Amino acid sequence: MSNLIIKRPDNIFRLFSSLGNLKGVGEKKLQLLEKKIGPYLINLLFYLPTSSIDRFKNKSLKTINNNEIITCEVEVLEVNIPPYNFRKKVNISKIITFGLNEESNVRLDIIYFGKNTQYLKNIYQVGKKLIVSGKFESFNGLAQIVHPDYVFPIKEKHKVPKIENKYPLFEGVNQKFISKIIDEGQKRIPEITEWLSETIIKQYQFHDWKTSIRKIHIPENISDTNLNSVYRKRLALDELIANQISMSLLKNKISKLQNKNILKNSNLVNDFYKIIPFQLTENQEKAINEIKTDLFAKNTMIRMLQGDVGSGKTIVAFISILHAVSDGSQAVLLVPTEILAIQHFNSIKSLTKTLKIKVALLLGESRSVEPKKNRLETIEKIKQGEIQIIIGTHALFSKKIQYKNLSLAVIDEQHRFGVKQRVEISEKGTNVNVLVMTATPIPRSLALTAYGDMDISSIREKPIGRMPIKTYVTPQSKLEDVLLSIQRAIRNGDLIYWVCPLIEESEGLDLIAVNERFLFLKKYFREYSISLVHGKQNQEEREKSIEDFKNGNSKILVATTVIEVGVDIPDATIMVIECAERFGLAQIHQLRGRVGRSNKQSSCILLYKSQLSSIAYSRLKILKETDDGFEIAENDLILRGAGEILGSKQSGNINFKFVDLHIHSDLIPIARKEAENLLNNNMQSHKVNTLLSIFENNESIKLLKGG
Ligand code: ADP
Ligand code: MG
Repeated sequence: MSNLIIKRPDNIFRLFSSLGNLKGVGEKKLQLLEKKIGPYLINLLFYLPTSSIDRFKNKSLKTINNNEIITCEVEVLEVNIPPYNFRKKVNISKIITFGLNEESNVRLDIIYFGKNTQYLKNIYQVGKKLIVSGKFESFNGLAQIVHPDYVFPIKEKHKVPKIENKYPLFEGVNQKFISKIIDEGQKRIPEITEWLSETIIKQYQFHDWKTSIRKIHIPENISDTNLNSVYRKRLALDELIANQISMSLLKNKISKLQNKNILKNSNLVNDFYKIIPFQLTENQEKAINEIKTDLFAKNTMIRMLQGDVGSGKTIVAFISILHAVSDGSQAVLLVPTEILAIQHFNSIKSLTKTLKIKVALLLGESRSVEPKKNRLETIEKIKQGEIQIIIGTHALFSKKIQYKNLSLAVIDEQHRFGVKQRVEISEKGTNVNVLVMTATPIPRSLALTAYGDMDISSIREKPIGRMPIKTYVTPQSKLEDVLLSIQRAIRNGDLIYWVCPLIEESEGLDLIAVNERFLFLKKYFREYSISLVHGKQNQEEREKSIEDFKNGNSKILVATTVIEVGVDIPDATIMVIECAERFGLAQIHQLRGRVGRSNKQSSCILLYKSQLSSIAYSRLKILKETDDGFEIAENDLILRGAGEILGSKQSGNINFKFVDLHIHSDLIPIARKEAENLLNNNMQSHKVNTLLSIFENNESIKLLKGG
């Protein structure tokens, strides 16, 4: 079913009717809703409550706590509603009631503030029996409810909602309005084809989609609102199936049959092997062979190269690239930062100096220090096929760049990119093989949802002779000791990275922090030269800083997290990270991976601000205890959720509505099976279409449709 065209089936058209059709939604409200929720009924149905209150949870006025919600039956004893009064701004109306049934001796006052409260006379009359629901308060020892949410005569008891959802609000709409249109909306849900297999429905006792989505909005019991309820679980499974289907179809879209490449210049790789200054590890060799086999096989490659930080993925990429260009075609290496692009460019250029191969660096137009003319020339040469290897950042898939015959795209640090970029780059040629590399080892369950089913090569070992990095967790108050030991280390010839944290939402403050630290260290280590890198420098400044540090002219490189990924300066052996408690574990693991890249002993000092909670402290301790990126990533998943591990870009692709990977990850294998069944059976295309249409806002489904 690889050529499936996603088309909304007719029978679900009502899900895509405008919210303007709902009662109470006028032109103005519609505009607001369209902006904040989306244009269609389906968007409203996917607008989920953030919490729910149970109006009947508290049973008695005698045991209730302040500010909790209570619903109780009362009889009115006294009504005090002041006459309408012009001069006085606010009147206080007070209705004294007594509880009925077991609460018969408990007094409850109902209070209203307002200028004109005459209308209350219609509601409250002495002797009348009512049901009231609202927030309980104890005022001078008396029980009261101020402005109850609901008041009905006892015979209309059923009108008080049992469970009430709270929806996120925005300017121009209140809870009441949202609840009302949701109520309207859910009445319009059409009957929908069931796509789940009978076995699964039976096994989990799932209800149909319509019932499930209704129960989310109109729950009967507070347990219905639970992430683990059968309703929510079903919707989560649906979403995971849609995700798996789209991932699988995307793979088919990229992986087309191609003409076999013919090795024209096998010497290229052989000659390169002679230049490499070290022996490749077994795993590196194995990965290279797997990639090479793919490159010359019939199908387009989509492969992931996983290997912990420092395991040596770059050289595998370089050799794969040389294999690819050996038939005269082109290859690109896409990286997330300029620092990394420049580093890769310099090393591949020097390694291929003696080979007959043209390499170019391509950065974003505004970031490039090259004269515009040179950049245009490079672009032209890429188009003509005169340049075979192109290293660069996002600029590589800009519309302006055309390739003559691109056969391989390597994406380094995949977690910094999304599925979108992967598809975009593969569309830069007719049969582009894709190799994504990631140093963030991610748990299998996450890998499947975020990347789909890729072939995987792994590098499980570090180059021979690497020693484990010693990690210290130290309070900031011991800064002086740290400085002294760094002084000694510099005398010993060590190079030191000093990382200052990202101050969220404020790049400005961020820069102040890093600048301050830079000046401080400069003063402290007066006799040595110290460099600084951060995101706001221009390319030249930054390159100079890194160059100075690399060749040992400067001893300390003070940096923001711009050095987080890929930077390779083997002589650097000490990593200091300030305010380590603010970073994700996987992120620190990445940063720490900047050292330990030679056979010298390396260390990492994690400084934390004093008064760290014991949880935060034990979190940092995990890093001290293990160097295994996989274990660290799993811990991050538990502690911080999926977004942290996959990076914001990546997690954007799996911005699930119903799925919480913490809770629903056991549904992933089931979703995979269901997706497979649906795709393998041509009779099911209507179901697939329905499912994908319902989740059409999912990033990967948008891509499938070419959006
Ligand atoms: P990463 O997997 O984090 O991208 P790199 O490719 O940057 O790792 O490699 C880390 C360091 O190890 C680099 O300095 C690289 O030159 C070196 N290296 C890679 N492979 C080997 C090897 N087989 N033997 C020795 N050093 C190696
Ligand atoms: Mg790398």
